[in-house]
Amino acid sequence: MQGKVIIAGAGPGAADLITLKVLNALKEADLVIYAGSLVNPEILNYARDDAEKLNSASMSLDEVVAAMKKAVSEGKNVVRLHTGDPTMYGAISEQMNELDELGIEYEIIPGVSSVFAAAAALKSELTMPGITQTAILTRRAGRTPVPEQENIVKLAANNASVAVFLSVADMQGLANDFISAGRPPETPVAVVYRATWANQKIVRGTLANIVVKVEESGIKRQAMIIVGAALDRGGKKSLLYHKSFAHGYRTNDGSKTFDGNVAIYTVTQKGCIKAGELAEGLEDSQVFIPERFGDEFNSFKTFKPKTLDKVIAENWNKFDAHLFIMATGIVVRKIAGLIDSKLFDPAVVVCDELGNNSISLLSGHIGGANRLAAVIAGITGGRAVITTATDINNMTAFDELASLNNWQICNPQNIKILNSMLLEAKNIDMLIPEEIFNKFYKGIRGLRLVGSTEEINGSGAVILNTNSSKLSVPALELKSNCYAVGVGCRKDTSCDEIEAAFNDALKKAGINSKQICCIASSDVKEQESGLLDFASKRKFKIKFYGKKTLNEIKTPNPTPRAIKEFGVASVSEAAAVVASGIGKLVLEKQKYEKVTIAIAQCKGA
Ligand code: SAH
Repeated sequence: MQGKVIIAGAGPGAADLITLKVLNALKEADLVIYAGSLVNPEILNYARDDAEKLNSASMSLDEVVAAMKKAVSEGKNVVRLHTGDPTMYGAISEQMNELDELGIEYEIIPGVSSVFAAAAALKSELTMPGITQTAILTRRAGRTPVPEQENIVKLAANNASVAVFLSVADMQGLANDFISAGRPPETPVAVVYRATWANQKIVRGTLANIVVKVEESGIKRQAMIIVGAALDRGGKKSLLYHKSFAHGYRTNDGSKTFDGNVAIYTVTQKGCIKAGELAEGLEDSQVFIPERFGDEFNSFKTFKPKTLDKVIAENWNKFDAHLFIMATGIVVRKIAGLIDSKLFDPAVVVCDELGNNSISLLSGHIGGANRLAAVIAGITGGRAVITTATDINNMTAFDELASLNNWQICNPQNIKILNSMLLEAKNIDMLIPEEIFNKFYKGIRGLRLVGSTEEINGSGAVILNTNSSKLSVPALELKSNCYAVGVGCRKDTSCDEIEAAFNDALKKAGINSKQICCIASSDVKEQESGLLDFASKRKFKIKFYGKKTLNEIKTPNPTPRAIKEFGVASVSEAAAVVASGIGKLVLEKQKYEKVTIAIAQCKGA
């Protein structure tokens, strides 16, 4: 009996991206003919050891057909493996014509084309509603000519996503074609080299800069190019990182967002380019670069030679996060002296200048560095390097839980104990709102939702707004507090001075800035620009109160100066208490050079 030929798609590269049908065909095969460098050799291991394996790279069409003919006549089964899906640039028509002539039966089994592997790697939807409902699969002319009517200049005169095969060798020509087709220079372009292989590389840019970026990356072949506004979701990319925006891979539980302000530092020219890309993708950031690059990148802040340490020290408490585009070693040395406690240290993330890796270095949970690293990786298309044990086991550590919900940790010494129990799947009872338990912990072994402290009988507990003193097991005590901050300042005090005082006071009180519901002052300060700038920079609600209201509050530390100037005993303390709904003063007035700060806990919180 004559054997059969199966023309099969080997997928884009990863050995587990073939279909079950191809797997079965390979197990049955006596001869496998595979297409050279783009078929993963691991896939050949699915065939029997005694099956013959031929690389078609060194064979002519006649030789391939001759080998098939011989095998089939001997009753053998042949699998002809093509990269991706055989029907895209697989040159299978000529083979099928020959097989037809020889009367040899054949079948085609589809595979995952590199275009879909690349789109998946880019986490993009080629047919994004509102932008386009069309994807064009094409190539530029090479040895094989492309019919004139299908020239990209003509094909791409619309908003469709265009996937271009076999064309990375002439990126300049390709970019020119798209511009000639009328696509704006800021149209996003992504180049994916060896999608799904271990050495996959992604370069993202726009029609205006992709040529240089690809040149720098060294990619010369084996790459899929995808062009179109759908890539950055129609310009909504920044929204992706917004805390209230949810979709498939970035959930709105806040686990992949970072909503603080970020200081970005770099010391090289390429780093400046990357910093610009990152600043664009982040909600609130400021870039610091060496003075010598200042002319070229004039929207960034510059620093003089040998002053980076000073800049970092000055910024340390002013920013929620510090992102360094430089070697990890440099960063470790520079921040060593500034590190204090995991409860208050800002997030520190290190990213290499190509954006391949973004490393969460410090304050992964409470500070949010793990989340920031994920956001950065989302922007660069690189990888977030996370080393905290809970996260790599796909669990939300309890200090991360507190940070995501803006809860205060009352007994931080127990964080480690409870997180270890979580990792070791010990029985932990959780007295927290049901919807939060379901969002983060449902189905995790060992974790149980309880309704009261009486039900607690596991090895440990995590409790919200409840006193742990009566418990016989170690508990992590969390509090959903919120606070109002009263601010007094002299005339013309700068935003920076207010911010420095504010940060210091919060640290003294052991309060996270996310727990602040508003700031407050006297109505005399309604036009004080430094104070208004501070509120808008940090996105705090600001409230102003008149003399009469403030004077109704009895404050522990009245100041003669305040009485004289505003007729109010203490602006910061009284304003904090009023804004908190006549709550409790938890930090009495702190005096700084030109600023006073007091903090009150909101009533009922
Ligand atoms: N039939 C294949 C395409 C073969 S033509 C498929 O469906 O994917 C070869 C071209 O495909 C390459 O020049 C490149 O443009 C693209 N290609 C194939 N495998 C790729 C991969 N793993 N990553 C990126 N591009 C790939």
